[in-house]
Amino acid sequence: MNSIENNLKEILQKIESAEQKYNRTKGTVKLLAVSKFHPVDAVEKAISAGHFLFGENRVQEAVAKFSDINSFNKDVELHIIGQLQTNKVKKAVSVASCIESVDRIDLLKEIQKQCEKINKKIKILFEVNTAEDSKSGFKNYEDLYEAVKYCADGNTPFVEPIGFMTMAPLTDDEALIRKSFSSLRKLSEKLQTEFPMFNFSELSMGMSNDYEIAIEEGSTEVRIGTAIFGEREY
Ligand SMILES: *Cc1c(COP(=O)(O)O)cnc(C)c1O
Repeated sequence: MNSIENNLKEILQKIESAEQKYNRTKGTVKLLAVSKFHPVDAVEKAISAGHFLFGENRVQEAVAKFSDINSFNKDVELHIIGQLQTNKVKKAVSVASCIESVDRIDLLKEIQKQCEKINKKIKILFEVNTAEDSKSGFKNYEDLYEAVKYCADGNTPFVEPIGFMTMAPLTDDEALIRKSFSSLRKLSEKLQTEFPMFNFSELSMGMSNDYEIAIEEGSTEVRIGTAIFGEREY
């Protein structure tokens, strides 16, 4: 067994234990394997081990690694999780099944436009800034509300909002991390009540260092890179 296969197995076991420990239904927490900065060879090792869900944060890298993989293996799914420039949307939607980092209405408009062109429906998550030190995501409720409403008003038929994503602050303070995750859950519940036409079932939160807290706080998808693929060399 190679180390990637071994790490995947270990993380999946830890996710399952956390589900059990925190009274989460078994199998409700997905693992997004974040392969950024790791070569295509690492992705292939994970696929051979039976893992099909991946995340990348830069579009160029995602396209370089995944356009071939996607055409060979229809089970493989890629999510874009990094800040997305408008001029990269066309490429992003060609390779991804979900954009998790929607942080402004202009991006929604461009995703709709590019998806309509290729007749592809795409899932999206609204990224929310729940940590003071974070630069990405919606910073205030009004802007987020406006973006959700923009979709609810029927402007984005090729875009399917399925939930929310956040990054906890970079800290050892568990209480701060927990606060960040629980605030995303509360926000999701609030917006679900405001917009019953959507099914906000996904909470993408938790990374290598904090995913067990995230699962306790209701995460449905943990995004894990280092603990699967090792340290990144930038
Ligand atoms: C890199 C990255 C991850 C994975 O981080 P690790 O600490 O390596 O697990 C998760 N989410 C986002 C948005 C990332 O950019």
